[in-house]
Amino acid sequence: MPTAWPRAILHVDLDAFYTSVHQRDDESLRGKPVVVAGASRRAVVMGASYEARAFGVHSAMPLFEAVALCPALVVVRPASSRYREASRAIHAVFRRFAAPEKIEGVSLDEAYIDVTARSRHGTTTPEDIARQIKFMIRNEVHLTASVGVAVGKVVAKIASESRKPDGLVVVPPETEAEFMAPMPVGALTGVGPKTEERLRMMGIRRVGDLADYDTQRLVQALGSGGAVLQKLAQGKDRSPVDGTKPPKTISAEITFEEDVSDRDRIEAAVKELTERLAVRLREAGVKAKTVYVKVKLPDFRLVSRQVSRTSATDDGDVIFRAARSALEKSHLESRPVRLIGVGLSGLEHPHPELQMSLFD
Ligand SMILES: [Mg+2]
Repeated sequence: MPTAWPRAILHVDLDAFYTSVHQRDDESLRGKPVVVAGASRRAVVMGASYEARAFGVHSAMPLFEAVALCPALVVVRPASSRYREASRAIHAVFRRFAAPEKIEGVSLDEAYIDVTARSRHGTTTPEDIARQIKFMIRNEVHLTASVGVAVGKVVAKIASESRKPDGLVVVPPETEAEFMAPMPVGALTGVGPKTEERLRMMGIRRVGDLADYDTQRLVQALGSGGAVLQKLAQGKDRSPVDGTKPPKTISAEITFEEDVSDRDRIEAAVKELTERLAVRLREAGVKAKTVYVKVKLPDFRLVSRQVSRTSATDDGDVIFRAARSALEKSHLESRPVRLIGVGLSGLEHPHPELQMSLFD
């Protein structure tokens, strides 16, 4: 008898996304330890290939430390437009299986997809859908993804992480607690190192220990959050996949290779950033009301100023003029600048109902 899924949630996560995009596009990088990092001396690792991870290299590590661990490390610069392009292609695959409001992007390469509707009609199981999504991503985007399938988001995420790369892990309904019991409690979303340490002091090391613990004592020790965590540990997680949440801000920034005080160069950078943002707005069918500019000075101080408009816009020139007046408001005079960023907030979908009907 086929398994009855009250809900079917996929967590899809691309494998070593950033470096995989570079290895896909440049044959000479394949099979090599690669990291993506900026050019500055203080750069940190944005992403590491599996070959680099074998040396202990990981994301957020200072680049010099990574190079010390792996002298043969190949360092490539970020290629954000190619990451976004890959991300769009992946989302196009997702939309074949779920409506936009059932796809919740977590980052460029990670999303939850509620495929309950699709797996209910006909004979397609959630596992079939997961296989098809992996296949299409491999075939069309030339990247690999790991997918977890479960009734809830937390278990789906733990499942996708449990067999990377190129994994597919299905946790059938009613088997969640059993699946998670041997995992360390730190695997649960919401359990950071501090909570993990407190739980360890109470003798709780595995998710199963937490699931079985006396609820009252747990609440005494951790507050009401303790009961919530225990429910997660028991696999009782019914939080919805919410793809309707629009992003609150979008931004882009440029770090100069040396400090820049030339006004024209700074303005040219602002121009480039506002153009990029305008394209992203139009692609998303969104307009913005507020434009802000963020400047980092050589002493790392951040100066930020914003300009709000009465009506929302997606016009690059209008956004540029607003960014330029925000820049004037920050009174840089001739002070040198290390980094400049432009951000947009107050984002509006002018016709959300239209967007939905386009899909349906
Ligand atoms: Mg990933």
